[in-house]
Amino acid sequence: METFNKFGDLGFGGIFIDGELGGSGLSRTDTTVIVEALATGCVGTTAMLTIHNMCGGMIDKYGSEEQRKKWLPKLCDMSVKASYCLTEPGAGSDAASLSTKAVLDKAKNEYVINGGKAFISGAGQSDIYLVMCRTGGVGASGISCLLIPKDTPGLSFGSDEKKMGWKVQPTRQVIFEDCRVPASNMIGKEGQGFQVAMVGLDGGRLNIGACSLGAAQICFETCLKYVKERKQFGKSISDNQGTHPSLQPLTIHGYSLLFCTSYSIQAG
Ligand SMILES: Cc1cc2nc3c(=O)[nH]c(=O)nc-3n(C[C@H](O)[C@H](O)[C@H](O)COP(=O)(O)OP(=O)(O)OC[C@H]3O[C@@H](n4cnc5c(N)ncnc54)[C@H](O)[C@@H]3O)c2cc1C
Repeated sequence: METFNKFGDLGFGGIFIDGELGGSGLSRTDTTVIVEALATGCVGTTAMLTIHNMCGGMIDKYGSEEQRKKWLPKLCDMSVKASYCLTEPGAGSDAASLSTKAVLDKAKNEYVINGGKAFISGAGQSDIYLVMCRTGGVGASGISCLLIPKDTPGLSFGSDEKKMGWKVQPTRQVIFEDCRVPASNMIGKEGQGFQVAMVGLDGGRLNIGACSLGAAQICFETCLKYVKERKQFGKSISDNQGTHPSLQPLTIHGYSLLFCTSYSIQAG
């Protein structure tokens, strides 16, 4: 979380949000370049940052003026952190089949949410949750997006998943038990939630790709440095055929990435 707060000071909390609302006003291309560079330091931290930016982007594009003014400045300076809640235990790749239900209590003009999300990055740490829920019939058109603050009664979190990577950020279930939010917490229109979620993911996928590229780049550079430094039989192992830097570029990349992956695993 300390690192996250530093991101806010550096202007990374709302990389592609307008300057007027506290963002850095950069392009999606700029964002992928920043993400790729940050991921050479820590993929897990960077990935979490991209999810936070994705949520800000969804509020910016689909939120009302009131919602944008209320949340975007805080998301940009990272005094408020956001998580994205689409996946459920029974709805992964087939996200449009999600079953977390939000029913409108007309008397109070509040949505009552019941259900649960799985594998949510930042769950328990984030201050707000953009939750895709079923407000209508089956399929994508029955889904809406609700903003649910962390302190909402009925919202709780599962235990931290034991992962192979991205260990710096928690991945937990998010559970809703008669969780109530004002109807005004809807981002976009009723039934527009799947579109909101997919537009968010359009950028999210670019960012996760950029994260992977940054990770591969630093593994490659680490590998090249290592094969030059490491000496066996009185010479650098880079002088041997299989790890020689003058191999054809494609072979170097393919081989070195395999090699450096095993090296990185050994190096922790
Ligand atoms: C570390 C981590 C963090 C995550 N963070 C978030 C988050 O913040 N918010 C969130 O909403 N979700 C999050 N997720 C969930 C992630 O988006 C899902 O894991 C993903 O959508 C895949 O769903 P699934 O795991 O249920 O796999 P499944 O949908 O069960 O898929 C399993 C396998 O089957 C393949 N498959 C499925 N359907 C088809 C098909 N039609 N054709 C061919 N192959 C197919 C898939 O490609 C995959 O290889 C996270 C997951 C992880 C692991």
